[in-house]
Amino acid sequence: MVLLSCVPADLDTATPVGGMAAAVQGSRVALDLSAYEPPPTASGPHTTLVDELQEAILRPPMQEWPIDWSDERKRLAAKYFEFHKGWDIGPDPDYDRLTTMDPRMIVVHWTAGASARSAYHTFYQARQTGHRNRRVWNEVNLSAHFIVDRDGTIIRLMPETRMGRHTIGLNHLSIGIENVGDGEHFPLTEAQLEANAMLVRWLAWRYPVTHLIGHYEYRDFEAHPYFEESAHWFRTGRCDPGPDFMARLRAQVAELHLEGSPHADG
Ligand SMILES: [Zn+2]
Repeated sequence: MVLLSCVPADLDTATPVGGMAAAVQGSRVALDLSAYEPPPTASGPHTTLVDELQEAILRPPMQEWPIDWSDERKRLAAKYFEFHKGWDIGPDPDYDRLTTMDPRMIVVHWTAGASARSAYHTFYQARQTGHRNRRVWNEVNLSAHFIVDRDGTIIRLMPETRMGRHTIGLNHLSIGIENVGDGEHFPLTEAQLEANAMLVRWLAWRYPVTHLIGHYEYRDFEAHPYFEESAHWFRTGRCDPGPDFMARLRAQVAELHLEGSPHADG
């Protein structure tokens, strides 16, 4: 696909909630599991011994660095989604419900930096700072679900079923993975590739994920049922994490048969 103008300098922005129109595919399980139940989602936890076994096999080791997920963040996120999705959140909103999702997509990023700690601090607080914090539709801070450090260490920032803010139009149904690095001075590493593959396998088993994309592909979904963004001017040019990294990641997890960009050549 044609890459849009891309300034590899910033973490991303994105959007909100709404009804799910797309069909959900069944679980993609690496093992032969008879009498197996569908994967857990936001609406239901693990329930069986087989689930617990599969979870133990597939869940990669990860560190927990939780970002602030306070009532304020939920409220700001809901206001963001209200604007960007046209929601009517009402006078007494259920903020937990409004910011909870069943993930359908995984979006892979790079941080455009060299430090996991720096990325964590960028995401930590509930509000954006500076000029970005002046309007209600832009108050909630950026966030992703995972950071993958350059040595492959996986860091979990927030529950996968919480809506983050990392990809315009797709935040209400996507899990964001941020890789520490960029396309120039800190190219993504083989250890990150391996860690992303492990993470994607686990997530695709645990949630009803249908798509795996790079952030640079998000605008290809503007005509897709998944994409919800009411502000036509609210777009950014992105090139992360690059087509080479995505091609190699897709090759690693080909057995999952996750879909990519609807505009991909093949
Ligand atoms: Zn990105």
